[in-house]
Amino acid sequence: MKVLISADMEGTAGVVDRAHTAIPDRAAITGVQHNAAEYDWARRLMTEEVNAAIAGAFEGGAAEVWVTDAHGSMRNLLPLALHREARYVSGSPKMLCMLEGLDDTFGAVMFTGYHGSAGTPASVLAHTYIGIIQDVRLNGVSMGEYGINAAVAGHFGVAVALVAGDNTVVAQVRGLLGPDVVGVEVKRAAGTHAAVHLHPEKAREAIRAGAAEAVRRAGRLRPYRVPAPVRLDVDIVAPDLTDLAALLPGVTRTGARSVAFEGPDVLNVFKAWRAMLNVMMTRSAV
Ligand SMILES: [Zn+2]
Repeated sequence: MKVLISADMEGTAGVVDRAHTAIPDRAAITGVQHNAAEYDWARRLMTEEVNAAIAGAFEGGAAEVWVTDAHGSMRNLLPLALHREARYVSGSPKMLCMLEGLDDTFGAVMFTGYHGSAGTPASVLAHTYIGIIQDVRLNGVSMGEYGINAAVAGHFGVAVALVAGDNTVVAQVRGLLGPDVVGVEVKRAAGTHAAVHLHPEKAREAIRAGAAEAVRRAGRLRPYRVPAPVRLDVDIVAPDLTDLAALLPGVTRTGARSVAFEGPDVLNVFKAWRAMLNVMMTRSAV
């Protein structure tokens, strides 16, 4: 079986603040100043949690493991420190974003370092892609990055088998996809910027065991398939940003701070979603 690990950063044990996750050259876009010392140790912890998932996947019987860097500029993992048998997918933009590399030859997807959806109370660094998004719904179902990515994986007939992150994202993923998804809670949120953590080594042990179990369970997990036509509703923090999203062909303005898009399948809608995000990140237009 081939396994793809989508590796985000906010859900890593030890990480609670944007000072930990802010990447070097995005301050102009995100408004968060990069802190080299904080980011450096956080990316090392992230890399080691991914290594634990890779090792567990192989122990569970995976024949091939790919890792897609899924945070910010998507070049956070330290290539030389990564498990040598894994394929590393990095860089941005990539067509499938947090799942680049995935196709129907894979048997399972795993989420490491994941976080809760925008607006979740007491959820470490909760957001959905970028801070200006308040809510996203696919066919009326509210979800975070985990749900959108589960739908993209479902498009290829691949199920999500594991999520690692704080207690809120574990609950959200299992709420959407079912209790058979292996959930590894590496920290318990005490707020948006506060948590009680497992020691990083204990977190890795739990992820490793969870990943092995996830591969063993993968065959009986059902992909998350969103029936066509697929409708995407997006709520945005401000009307001027909503003006920008509404410029895209096929996007309908549904309110002062909301837009909708309907497409024939998840991949088509996913492209529209990415285009909306990118046009809004320009923050000005001609
Ligand atoms: Zn994320």
